[in-house]
Amino acid sequence: MTILELTSRLAAQPARRLAVLPTPLEDAPRLREALGGRARCPRILVKRDDLTGLGLGGNKARKLDFLIGDALAKGATSVITTGAAQSNHARMTAAAARRAGLAVDLVLTTADDPAPLEGNLLLDHLFGARVHMVPAVDPMLAVGHDEAVVRDVAERLLADGGRPYVIAVGGSSAVGALGYVAGTAELAGQLAALGAAPRRLYFASGSRGTQAGLTLGAHLLNMPYELHGVAVSGGEPEKFERARRVASEAAALLGADDSVRDARFFTDQGFIGDGYGLPTPEGLEAMRLAARCEALVLDPTYTAKGLAALIAHVRSGELGPDDTVVFLHTGGAPATLTSKAAAALAAAPGWQNL
Ligand SMILES: *Cc1c(COP(=O)(O)O)cnc(C)c1O
Repeated sequence: MTILELTSRLAAQPARRLAVLPTPLEDAPRLREALGGRARCPRILVKRDDLTGLGLGGNKARKLDFLIGDALAKGATSVITTGAAQSNHARMTAAAARRAGLAVDLVLTTADDPAPLEGNLLLDHLFGARVHMVPAVDPMLAVGHDEAVVRDVAERLLADGGRPYVIAVGGSSAVGALGYVAGTAELAGQLAALGAAPRRLYFASGSRGTQAGLTLGAHLLNMPYELHGVAVSGGEPEKFERARRVASEAAALLGADDSVRDARFFTDQGFIGDGYGLPTPEGLEAMRLAARCEALVLDPTYTAKGLAALIAHVRSGELGPDDTVVFLHTGGAPATLTSKAAAALAAAPGWQNL
């Protein structure tokens, strides 16, 4: 399929433009230099989806363009979603709801009692979300027993004459995944303009909606790169199946055949560390390098682990100096502005070593 054909199919889907697009695709020459320069390190292009604008930005804005469009098309009066206390998805959903004139309920999981009012959680309240907290059950996963609370909130809203629209965790449904099909079309145009054919695209993978959309987009446009999703939490093989199912359902929405089912839905399990939201030494090093070389603000939960995989593959020689790679910066900076992230960064080696 051509880019034009794909964008015209996407244009037929309900959408509400909330993200600031296109996001830049930038070279990272000082990061390349720090990783061995042109003799050792590939060309690194950074796709700046941290700059999608909506409520301080991040990858969820692309999904929310389609999710909020769908909610409005269905006559919703409010949205409900779930996530961790420091969920970027919840924060951007709250921002998106406000921009669309909808009310918003967030059912958030935390291991802390109470969860500190900082980072994303502070922004959730600032955006006027109604926040419902549930206790965490498993440190490897991002969620708690939130289904019953979501059902309860939805029933109360319905009883009051409202029309709540439930958004899946991470916005990872077929409708949400369309955001990264569109994101792939955008990237394809930018790569063509640069004359670049990257070997791999690295990104942090959580609830897998980004992966589903990127995989479908790359499949439909026959992109040259291999997708290298870096898992940030446990939960295989269910998450693998979810990525495949969501990609397949998104293909159906676009009237494409189901051949994406046979695509590769690989996720690298080597950079999770002790679990979801728990910083790793390699991730903290990646955060320092990205900030000091390129003024890129990563977060310890997602993007730090994603870039740590790319750095490890440069150092191991798995990627060579003649390669080009793309790092998809999916956002997350508000989670860095928390006391936990600050403590982890300040305790890591190299903090004061300028
Ligand atoms: C949600 C999120 C991801 C992962 O996206 P999924 O679609 O949930 O896999 C990556 N990075 C950041 C910063 C995120 O907030």
